[in-house]
Formats: sequence, structure tokens, C-alpha cells
Amino acid sequence: MADTCWAKEYREAAKALWESLEGCGDHSCLLKRPKGMATNGGCRCFDSLPADERRAMRRVLRFARDGASALDLLDAKDAEIKRLIRLTEEMEDHIMELEVLLDENDIRSW
Ligand SMILES: [Zn+2]
Repeated sequence: MADTCWAKEYREAAKALWESLEGCGDHSCLLKRPKGMATNGGCRCFDSLPADERRAMRRVLRFARDGASALDLLDAKDAEIKRLIRLTEEMEDHIMELEVLLDENDIRSW
């Protein structure tokens, strides 16, 4: 995993927030799926909210989850880009070594 600073901070904050949640203990809990024993019948976490706010809350949760997934993806791409940059630098070093060898042996006729 790449060490992109803001992504790391976001992930740690999200993890702390996630761990502070308890959810309602239902299998389909929108906040946090229970481990082990659970009830059936649907998430009760937002039952006290009016229907439109409940829908908005679901969108917020989906947005946060998708954001976390996108960050994971960005991190993976970031790590791949860093790897490619490192490989390119290694290749440049090898090319320079080769050029030195060619010059030393005066075989630069091509
Ligand atoms: Zn719930």
C-alpha cells in the first residue's frame, strides 16, 4: 500500500469512525454488519428519521464507502506509478553505464 499522506489520514480517520459505530445488530444494517448473532427484518438505525432523510443517509453512507474504495484504487495506482518510475531510473542508470562502456571501448559507430 502506498504511503500517500492524505489517503493514509483519511483511511485512519474512517477506520476510527467505523470502529466507534455499533449499528442495530440486524443482518442488513447499513451502518455496520454484525458479527455472529443478528436479527432479521431490516436496519433500524435510521428509523427515527423521516423517509427522505433516511434515503439521504443511505446515499451519504454509499458515498463514504465508494470514496474509501476509490482511495484504495488510487493507492494501488500510486504504488504502480512509483514502481514504474523506479524501474525507469534503473534503466537510465544501465543506459548511462552502457554509454560509458561504449565510449571507453570506442565502439560508437552506430
Ligand atoms: Zn442498522
